[in-house]
Amino acid sequence: MPDSDVEVVVIGGGAAGVAAAKRLQQAAVRCLLVEARQRLGGRAWTVIDPAGNALDLGCGWLHSADRNPWVKVAKQQRAAIDETPPPWTRPPLEFGFSRADQKDYRKALADFFGRVARAADDQNDVAVSTLLDPNSRWNGLINAIGTYISGADLDRLSVKDFDRYEDSGINYRVFKGYGALVSDHGADLPMMLDCPVTAIDHRGRRLHVETHKGGITADQVIITVPSAVLAAERIAFTPALPEKTEAARGLPLGLADKLFLSLERAEEFDKETRLFGRTDRKGTGGYHFRPFGRPQIEVYFAGGLAAELEAKGEEAFFDYAAFELTGLFGNDFAKRIRPIRVHQWGQDPFALGSYSFALPGFADCRAVLAAPVDNRLFFAGEACSPHDFSTAHGGFLTGVAAADQVIAVRHSGAADRRGARNP
Ligand SMILES: Cc1cc2nc3c(=O)[nH]c(=O)nc-3n(C[C@H](O)[C@H](O)[C@H](O)COP(=O)(O)OP(=O)(O)OC[C@H]3O[C@@H](n4cnc5c(N)ncnc54)[C@H](O)[C@@H]3O)c2cc1C
Repeated sequence: MPDSDVEVVVIGGGAAGVAAAKRLQQAAVRCLLVEARQRLGGRAWTVIDPAGNALDLGCGWLHSADRNPWVKVAKQQRAAIDETPPPWTRPPLEFGFSRADQKDYRKALADFFGRVARAADDQNDVAVSTLLDPNSRWNGLINAIGTYISGADLDRLSVKDFDRYEDSGINYRVFKGYGALVSDHGADLPMMLDCPVTAIDHRGRRLHVETHKGGITADQVIITVPSAVLAAERIAFTPALPEKTEAARGLPLGLADKLFLSLERAEEFDKETRLFGRTDRKGTGGYHFRPFGRPQIEVYFAGGLAAELEAKGEEAFFDYAAFELTGLFGNDFAKRIRPIRVHQWGQDPFALGSYSFALPGFADCRAVLAAPVDNRLFFAGEACSPHDFSTAHGGFLTGVAAADQVIAVRHSGAADRRGARNP
């Protein structure tokens, strides 16, 4: 333990925790970042494949890039940015999905989002699935898209929360990986890795944070662990904080898992194109061909399908992708693909899922989760974001907001102490 008595402890070294600790460091606050894993980044995680490519197993797209603070960080790091528009902004490949059907589907999708926006203004919060047109043949695919966006099937999603998400439509990537961007940003912070926090005692004048490597004393704590970790009460608060546990339970983490495949004779496909395994059911993968022009397919499984595959184990991801791709391109296609890497976020003990969504009736839980307790316990992380939840920039913004609150409290405390000395 480098320093077991600090001004502020930041728990969790993902996008939110790194951004919070950097802000505190800039304000000369003596802080310590405590992270359960052996690495920074959390759900931002870049690994290098055998060919030397950076693969993002978690976040990859810098969404709302025109206002995403990670873009500025990328520029500071002189990281090469790729501005190629994402495949979902262009028509999918035509295999199994004719241009005429695509047009019909796009209209059904636009009508659906129109109904969602109108329903979100109603007083009652309902499940997004109630806004599907029962007569539409595109409900399976619309539901699949909903799982990619939120990690959960539409019948589990609050329409108010779904509609509150804001996206500018500009999306960039960084060649070195979003995970590398986040972890490099935090590299110079005072930190303890491989150090899960188990308890926070906030009864005394100072806070006591219990970790696997001993106790730490601090004035304030910023808690940035995923909502699912709080919901599972992996960190015990004394006194207990039932309103935080309840809020976190209203904001479960959905599931989205990426599978990377190598692809032989990849040049037969255009770079950065996409297709769906099936267009008539919600349980289908999204297949991104030749990301960054590489001879690879990045497969996105989400919602109930991802949960089913996780229950069967890692090989099930490849088997399902091979089943869908051979259904589209014929049996020989199986010989052209090989698994490179998959990560099952639902099995990840320090994430317990992929990104947060609100259950119907629980949209306001984000504000409850984000509210400080006694100006000593502060909460951040993507689930606390009112409009950028489920993203790494949402995490960043909540981390900075929590750090600014801490700095303001510390300044006012210092001013009070000065006032008491010089009445
Ligand atoms: C497959 C996938 C694809 C995604 N795609 C995108 C995308 O393209 N763009 C985008 O913006 N977002 C995307 N996301 C979401 C994005 O990755 C997350 O929203 C964001 O990284 C969350 O940051 P955070 O700091 O809030 O949480 P986390 O990154 O989860 O950080 C919390 C940290 O707390 C640590 N922790 C947990 N328990 C403890 C404990 N007891 N003690 C100490 N530390 C603990 C964790 O290890 C973790 O490092 C994706 C996520 C996944 C899984």
